[in-house]
Amino acid sequence: MTSIDDLPVRDELRGKSPYGAPQLDVPVRLNTNENPYPLPEPLVERIAERVREAARHLNRYPDRDAVELRTRLAEYLTKTSGHPVGPANVWAANGSNEVIQQLLQTFGGPGRTAIGFEPSYSMHGLIARGTGTGWISGPRNDDFTIDLAAAEKAIAENRPDVVFVTTPNNPTGNAVPPETVLALYEAAQAAKPSMVVVDEAYIEFSHGDSLLPLLDGRPNLVISRTMSKAFGAAGLRLGYLAADPAVVDAVQLVRLPYHLSAVTQATALAALEHTDTLLGYVEQLKAERDRLVTELRALGYEVTASDANFVQFGRFADAHAVWQQILDRGVLVRDNGVPGWLRVTAGTPEENDAFLDAVRELKKEQS
Ligand code: PMP
Repeated sequence: MTSIDDLPVRDELRGKSPYGAPQLDVPVRLNTNENPYPLPEPLVERIAERVREAARHLNRYPDRDAVELRTRLAEYLTKTSGHPVGPANVWAANGSNEVIQQLLQTFGGPGRTAIGFEPSYSMHGLIARGTGTGWISGPRNDDFTIDLAAAEKAIAENRPDVVFVTTPNNPTGNAVPPETVLALYEAAQAAKPSMVVVDEAYIEFSHGDSLLPLLDGRPNLVISRTMSKAFGAAGLRLGYLAADPAVVDAVQLVRLPYHLSAVTQATALAALEHTDTLLGYVEQLKAERDRLVTELRALGYEVTASDANFVQFGRFADAHAVWQQILDRGVLVRDNGVPGWLRVTAGTPEENDAFLDAVRELKKEQS
């Protein structure tokens, strides 16, 4: 049998494993921060209609610049943030992972570096590796807030080309205060200047507001978003960014032509017609997220304050063993490799009850 090591793969990929949470067939899956609610039936019908129409033109390449979709996304951002965003400020790709990849292909690459403050979304570092960008793991405080002084020092010393700030942060759940993001932006401009990418994948679940208004007068700032979480459309693969129009022009230098299929564009447009219904679920999920925080604390767990649709809880001497014990009770949560901590996604009230029953049982067994 030929193995990867027998192939002439790039040196930095040798011995590495692909990213991926286990996709296990268990009754309650609370491990990948998905929205637990299937799309409502009228939206499913609308998607079918729009895809049927798109199918009639599948002999042709799709709209390469996805103008209609970017216009609707800009309207969504304007409506929800109160900050005017136009189609020239917006770019879309297959998931925000691809948005991040395009940003690193544009602003990172061989001989360049990117920094993130860890633990954070591990794909930032992995996509950096995939694009030949050097990765710098920046510090956080023990309570998972960003240690601003240490972060500013790391930026000044390393002079990275790209700075990632994830707010609300994954896997810890806490939001980064706007003042901290601004300070990091200033530090990044003083050091290089470099691009600052604010990953707002979970912003719709936050108690606070989007940082979109900060884009004004800051051409090196990018806000990255996704339809995978709040819109409940992880299977669609649609991510997008908002930034200065020059950034949108720049990423077009690396995007593959026709990267967003006509089917994807049609489906995303249908989903955007139903924004109000979809965001209705967000309120329910926020309430369930808050319930998980309260109940886990009442059970005696340590819980990181959450602005996302998931909750980090601990502390465990052996988090992986606890992950397995919860799984043995039919509930899949996430072991992100943060020593002592696990992460649970807010599901439906029934799913969350099943999870809480499982951890309650574990507590009883331990006492
Ligand atoms: N950013 C963060 C912080 C995430 O947690 C995720 C998904 N887990 C993504 C980006 C990527 O999401 P997608 O590619 O589905 O848009």
